Amino acid sequence: IGPGCGMIVVVKGNAYGAGIEGVAPALEAAGVERFAVAWVSEGVQLRELGVRRPILVLGHAFPEDAGAALAHDLTITCHSLALGRAMSAAAVRTGKTARIHIHIDSGLHRDGVSLEEGVALAGELRGLPGGEVEGISTHMANADEPDDSFSDAQAALFRDATERLPGIPYRHTANSATALRRAGLRFEGVRIGLALHGVLP
Ligand SMILES: *Cc1c(COP(=O)(O)O)cnc(C)c1O
Repeated sequence: IGPGCGMIVVVKGNAYGAGIEGVAPALEAAGVERFAVAWVSEGVQLRELGVRRPILVLGHAFPEDAGAALAHDLTITCHSLALGRAMSAAAVRTGKTARIHIHIDSGLHRDGVSLEEGVALAGELRGLPGGEVEGISTHMANADEPDDSFSDAQAALFRDATERLPGIPYRHTANSATALRRAGLRFEGVRIGLALHGVLP
């Protein structure tokens, strides 16, 4: 992936079935920059296994997850102001920083917020105490298909989002397939799951 690009190791689903108890400590010892999981409960499990690096929750978190997220220093993908408010309140209560990423739905239509919603949400989140909008992300819909040209449209929308939201330091769009095929979409970090586990998408 080259210099200047971090590696977010995706270990959701029990490290793709490989066994999180073995995989996570090995990756931590190898010096990976960040971990990612789908759910808050998986992030808590990683902390219980001794992982100390940043952990990003990619999937849908709920306001009632905020306490556990702050207690275990989990970075949350935030889709709603209600979740942002809960994270802010938990941050103020604990004296910690609520780290938040905003996921822009650029065409996969699985999760995230639209460009307009994301711009509005980031503004609102930045007005809350105790929080930091650290990251902005998207996910390519067909990066692993022979024709991945839809990624061009998605990338254009994502660049639009980053231009309208300057000052969010960590941008990430690439799963294994995107990271391998499109060097221009690696940004600050790539979210590597399949390739990490030995599968060429
Ligand atoms: C699972 C997942 C990844 C990793 O994808 P791979 O194809 O396994 O590399 C990256 N980003 C998100 C949002 C995911 O849910």
